[in-house]
Amino acid sequence: MSMIPPPVEPFRIKMVEPLGRTTRRERDKLIRAAGFNVFNLPAEKVFIDLLTDSGTSAMSDRQWAGIMMGDESYAGARSFFRFEKAVRDIFGFAHVIPTHQGRAAERILFESVLGRNSAVPSNIHFDTTRANIEVRNAKAVDLAGAAAYDPDADLPFKGDMDTAKLESFLDRSAGRVPIVMMTVTNNSGGGQPVSLANIRKVSAVCRLRKIPFFFDACRFAENAWFIKRREKSYGSWTVRDIARKMFSYADGATMSAKKDALVNIGGFVTLNDSDLAARIKNMLIIGEGFPTYGGLAGRDLEAMAQGLQEVLDESYLEHRMRQVAYLGNLLDEAGVPYFKPAGGHAVYVLADRLLPHIPRDRFPGWALTVALYRESGIRAVEIGGGMFGRKNPRTGREEVPDLELVRLAIPRRVYTASHMVFVAQALGAIARKPERVKGVRIVEESRFLRHFTARFEEID
Ligand SMILES: *Cc1c(COP(=O)(O)O)cnc(C)c1O
Repeated sequence: MSMIPPPVEPFRIKMVEPLGRTTRRERDKLIRAAGFNVFNLPAEKVFIDLLTDSGTSAMSDRQWAGIMMGDESYAGARSFFRFEKAVRDIFGFAHVIPTHQGRAAERILFESVLGRNSAVPSNIHFDTTRANIEVRNAKAVDLAGAAAYDPDADLPFKGDMDTAKLESFLDRSAGRVPIVMMTVTNNSGGGQPVSLANIRKVSAVCRLRKIPFFFDACRFAENAWFIKRREKSYGSWTVRDIARKMFSYADGATMSAKKDALVNIGGFVTLNDSDLAARIKNMLIIGEGFPTYGGLAGRDLEAMAQGLQEVLDESYLEHRMRQVAYLGNLLDEAGVPYFKPAGGHAVYVLADRLLPHIPRDRFPGWALTVALYRESGIRAVEIGGGMFGRKNPRTGREEVPDLELVRLAIPRRVYTASHMVFVAQALGAIARKPERVKGVRIVEESRFLRHFTARFEEID
């Protein structure tokens, strides 16, 4: 047992969901039937599910009470006004437009601002953000600093944008950039935070050129907590005040409420510009619903309004962030290499270092997700060659991305410290005998987002 003190859960449990256990033999059959792809597993056969932190939060007693209080009126529901006030109090923008999830917020924003030749910079775009830009024949440009791609750089704000790169990009692209985005925390870059100093600088660069600056704010509370802990002079601020300060530098934000609003479905766009808000609401009515419900039920709006209060509770955040760091510390002890430092919502294991005997074109990250499930019933997701690589049609060879990661995403308020110990022990067992893990090859794949549906086989 580890000597690292576990974070103490600041809640007690009054409703439980039993976890089914399976035997190794059953899991071996199941993963074969799934084509060695953990997306194809029935979730009931997963013991600890670290596939994603999105929409997997446990709601509180007050959120469930809110569900019962939802006003289901088509227009002007009480629940909408409560939700609108909750968002305005934190984000501070005039217009609040609900959507059914984050990508819908992105879609109606980009439909309203992008032209054919547009380009949208960010620190690193999340996949759905990138897809919503590229599907309109515009360009999604990543401008994070070099440290964002270095797994060994143990730095406090690896999510920061390189502002020199931003300035030169904007100078080269005059008239082509209708909006600048910033992802907090930077999900595709290891869940790393962005500093207030960087936010201020990016905001100044955009204001000088009169370009609107928007946050992709899915994990704004986790980002604010990192600022409180890591950035000079904010230690005595409340996380709520830091969040408000962050948003004061921007013109709007998109949000997936499935992350830091502690709900299972929901999202929104919020912004100051009234003309743009009117255009976005037209898109909303076509694709999502009337502006006071936007593709959600009144009860969902109640749950979001309450979740936005709870996510800024500092005892919640302290536990959340310490739980992820705790898993990182346990992995250090177990000799499992990961992207440093641990992120806000996840720890990203360096699979190619853990399994050096598996060459990159035999997908060490993918092989690790198979081993973790088969040995211990844990589901994680590969973020490496399977997800981002592609077969070169001319040479037939796999082209792989720089990093070969396996993400252990921690759902909010769902698992306890002893679950983290179980996960670290499972990975530690693999790290002690890595050569037992076999590489894999793809036997069936689709052209887009192949990792969701691809089928693999093991190579002896
Ligand atoms: C999850 C996520 C989105 C998309 O939100 P959905 O609710 O899944 O549609 C966008 N950006 C980031 C950074 C995310 O993590």
